Amino acid sequence: GMGDEVYSISVLGTGGVGKSALTLRFIRDIFVEEWDPTIEDAYRKTVEVDDKLCTIEILDTAGQDDFLTLRPQWMLEKDAYVFVYSMTSQNTLKELEHFYELHEQMNDNRKVPIILVANKKDLISDSTEFVSKDDGKEMAKMWNAKYIESSAFNGENVENIFKECIREVRKVNAPPEKKKSGFFSFCNV
Ligand code: GDP
Ligand code: MG
Repeated sequence: GMGDEVYSISVLGTGGVGKSALTLRFIRDIFVEEWDPTIEDAYRKTVEVDDKLCTIEILDTAGQDDFLTLRPQWMLEKDAYVFVYSMTSQNTLKELEHFYELHEQMNDNRKVPIILVANKKDLISDSTEFVSKDDGKEMAKMWNAKYIESSAFNGENVENIFKECIREVRKVNAPPEKKKSGFFSFCNV
């Protein structure tokens, strides 16, 4: 209905990390093995998050180096960012630093929640940990971001990525909680 909350989210990260695969897994519940890496598209889905309906608008960006100049545009006026890297490649985590810098430059005082996604978890076993989980978690801490490990291949945690986005945005938008301190609760009775 007209009263639905609408949230606008950008999926960011360097080429090949699974931005499109995660988006399409969420939107259509399919896994795409081949997806034109240059396609940039927006999708919408209405979902229930904590008993409240909302519409999520997702911008699936195309993060090749030749589109560097578009990055600020993708990040403009969004409610949350999904920062994606691949657990199979250290460099893809490093690449996210550029997006974080842009975020700092662009949003100054505006709080835009970030979900840091370690994707392609299905390709990782203890013996093939290309990116240490601690590195990801450390980065998330530095950026005040939520850390989520996912797989677009088997769907693990994909819904959670987007639902956590909504929860974080709702926290930002919520009116400051009236804290019932001992003093005030004493005064009220
Ligand atoms: P994008 O450039 O960030 O949009 O990356 P894509 O979504 O196009 O994914 C790049 C490649 O990685 C594709 O071949 C995908 O099928 C594959 N891929 C994406 N996510 C996963 C995942 O979670 N697990 C596995 N095994 N492959 C994935
Ligand atoms: Mg893509």
